[in-house]
Amino acid sequence: MSASFRPSLAVLAAPSQRPSRQPTDARPGVSGIDAAALAAWLEAHGQPAYRARQVLDAVWRGGVTGWDEVSTLPAPLRAALEAEFRFDTVADTDVRDADGGLTEKRLHRLSDGLSIESVLMRYPARGGRRERATLCISSQAGCAVGCPFCATGELGFDRDLETAEILDQVRHAARRLAAEDARLTNIVFMGMGEPLLNLDRVLEAIAALNDPARFGLGARHITVSTSGVVPGMQRLTALGPQFTLAVSLHAARDPLRDVLVPLNRRWPVAEVVEAAREHARVTGRRVSYEVTLIDGINDTPADATALAELLAGDHAHVNLIPMNAVAHTPWVASPMPVIERFAATLEAAGIRTTIRRNRGQEIGAACGQLAAEHAGDPAPAIVARRRARLVDESARALRGERTEGPTTAVAVGE
Ligand code: SAH
Ligand code: SF4
Repeated sequence: MSASFRPSLAVLAAPSQRPSRQPTDARPGVSGIDAAALAAWLEAHGQPAYRARQVLDAVWRGGVTGWDEVSTLPAPLRAALEAEFRFDTVADTDVRDADGGLTEKRLHRLSDGLSIESVLMRYPARGGRRERATLCISSQAGCAVGCPFCATGELGFDRDLETAEILDQVRHAARRLAAEDARLTNIVFMGMGEPLLNLDRVLEAIAALNDPARFGLGARHITVSTSGVVPGMQRLTALGPQFTLAVSLHAARDPLRDVLVPLNRRWPVAEVVEAAREHARVTGRRVSYEVTLIDGINDTPADATALAELLAGDHAHVNLIPMNAVAHTPWVASPMPVIERFAATLEAAGIRTTIRRNRGQEIGAACGQLAAEHAGDPAPAIVARRRARLVDESARALRGERTEGPTTAVAVGE
C-alpha cells in the first residue's frame, strides 16, 4: 500500500505545544525481555541458573520500583542489570481518580518526553460475580487513524510503543492492586493507538502477559480492539486463538464510516466484517463489535437497521458505548432512550447487544483524553474549521454521499 499519511490538523497546528523530546534511553526495558534471553544474559555474566527466577520475580511479582531495591540480588549484579536494562520505561506524571476511586487514570511519561495513558477500572463483587479489575492500555503514542470523535485521533501519531512500554503500564497497575490485595483480571488494548499497526510488539507483549513465568494472565482475559486493519486481522486469524478481538465498527454504511473511521476508505466495512467473521470461524472465538453512539450522527433508526442487516446470523456481540464528549468536536453522546432503541433493533435481529456505561467521564477516561489535555489546545480557528468540516462531512454522509479523498491514510505493510 502507498505510504500517504496526511497528519491531522492538530499535529500541524500545535508543534510548539508538543513536549520537547529528551534523548531516548537506549537500554531496553527488562519487562520486554523474554525468559530465555534473560537466562542467556545472566549465564553470560557468570550467574547461576536460579538468578533468572529471582530477576523475573522482582520484575513481575514484587513491589519494588528499581534495581537498587531488589535485595535478593548481589549488588554487583544489580549494577550490571541497571547498566543493561531499564527496570521501568514509564513514569507516572498524573494519576486521577473518578467514580469514588473505582476508576483511576494514569498519564505515563516515556523516556523521550511523550505521554501515554492507561485506565484502571475496578468492579466490586456483585451477586455471584467475583471482584474484577480491568486495565485499559495504550499501544502507540498517538494514533494515525484519526477518528474524529477520539481524543487520540486528534493528537495525531507520534510513535509505536516498545514492548516494555506496553507491559510497564500493566506492571504499574498490578503493583497498585497488589498493595490492596487485589489483582488484575482483564486487560484491554483500548487506550491510545491502533494495536494492529504495532502488531509485532503487541504480540510480544501479549506473550509476556500470557507467560506463567512472567504475568500469567489467560488469553481469554485479554482483548485487542482494532479500527479495522484487515491485514492485521488476517495475521491474527492465522495465529489461531490468542485473545478476544474487538472491532470498532461505529457505522455499517460506508459513507458514514469513511467519516468516523477514516481507515474505512482503505478497508471498507464489508471487508472488515468479513475478516472478523473469518476470525470467528477459524478460532471459534466470538468477535465483539464496538459502536460509539453519537447524537444524530450514527444513532438513527436507519443506522440501527443497517447494522442489524450487516451482522444478522453472525456469532457476534455488539457493545454500544455513549460517546464521551471530546473538546474539539461538535458531537455529544446519544441520549439513553435512543441507545436503548438502537439496542432493541439489534436484539430483534438476534444480535447479542450490551450497553456500556462510560467510566470516569469526569477525568476524561475516554481514549486519549487526558494526554490530549496535556498536549494543549489547538488554536480556536483550527477548532472552528475542524468542527465545520465534521458537520459538513457527517451531513453528507447521512444523505449517503461519500466524501472524496482520504482524510487519513495509514502506512502499513500488507
Ligand atoms: N484504535 C483501537 C483501540 C483504541 S480505541 C480502536 O479504535 O479500536 C478504543 C475504543 O474507544 C474504540 O472502540 C474507540 O472507538 C473508542 N473511543 C474513542 N474515542 C471515544 C469517545 N470519545 N467516546 C467513546 N468511545 C471512544
Ligand atoms: Fe486511533 Fe482507535 Fe482513536 Fe480511531 S478510535 S483514532 S483508531 S485510537
